[in-house]
Amino acid sequence: MKPKYTIDLHMHSMLSDGKETPVEVINSARDFGLKKIIMADHNTLHPNMDKLRAYAESQGIEMPFSGCEASVAYYNENDDIEGTFHMLVYGEDDLIRDPRFIEAVGHYNDAYNAETIAELKRFNDAGYELSYEEAFIFDADIAPMEKHDKGSERHLIKCVAKKQGRPYAEVEAELEPLHVCREYTGRTWLQQIALMPNAKELIALCRSLGLVTVMAHPMWVDHAPFISNQDWLPCERVMEIVRDLHSHGLDGVEVSHQMNFDSFPETLRGMAAELDMLTTGGSDYHAEEDYGQHVTEYGVTEEEFARLEALVHERAAEFRNGR
Ligand SMILES: [Zn+2]
Ligand SMILES: [Zn+2]
Repeated sequence: MKPKYTIDLHMHSMLSDGKETPVEVINSARDFGLKKIIMADHNTLHPNMDKLRAYAESQGIEMPFSGCEASVAYYNENDDIEGTFHMLVYGEDDLIRDPRFIEAVGHYNDAYNAETIAELKRFNDAGYELSYEEAFIFDADIAPMEKHDKGSERHLIKCVAKKQGRPYAEVEAELEPLHVCREYTGRTWLQQIALMPNAKELIALCRSLGLVTVMAHPMWVDHAPFISNQDWLPCERVMEIVRDLHSHGLDGVEVSHQMNFDSFPETLRGMAAELDMLTTGGSDYHAEEDYGQHVTEYGVTEEEFARLEALVHERAAEFRNGR
């Protein structure tokens, strides 16, 4: 039987590509029986963590520190682009909100904001009523946030479905023709890469800002299409990349994740033990129907969590002491 976890370090909300607002994610976490969660939205941060945490606590959920899942580009030992992957960054709220961190991860999202606004106009013109506030401001009475996210993730379609109280798939079928997703915006792979920070540079920046870095679901490293028509890098190469990134300061690997299959979690655990790296995990929850089945199936033990938490505070103390 698979272990049942109560600590989930990887959940998404509508702040990025999840289908629930942060408050709804907390309610879901409570209903799933989770005790501690970290929201790690893509390339963006919740602007009101104090209020969100207070609400979580009122529901019996701890949100011990902040998280973010950054889209990064991997340049290999010869400094050649080899692929892209996701990097989880954990840290104390005020440190992760450092403008240098936001600047480093924010280009990717910013580039799509204008497209989302244009899409909103197309929806309105087609007779689907949705205001800017409805599309971008959530949880206004509990922990208001303004969404700044990529237009590629059908965010506005989710908002229309919610507003009309209709099934997402049905609304998606109607609005898909008006939705401009990333593939159709004319950006080439290289142009997308240019919007992402270099993984090694982001690790160095995070170190200098008192933050902790973890390679998310390492089995998923998106291959540069001009290098190979394989979507993912082979596991053997991924292990070499983990080693390379570790030599540049990467703190941990996300072992417990549904994308790491077969014996890969064990292989990763072995390497993490050898290199004295953190091991983390989470459901990658996006909504009940979107990885909801993985909540409590993937996560971390109290022991793994304690190690991460200690490092988050140790790094923060170093930063605050000016070291
Ligand atoms: Zn990811
Ligand atoms: Zn994720």
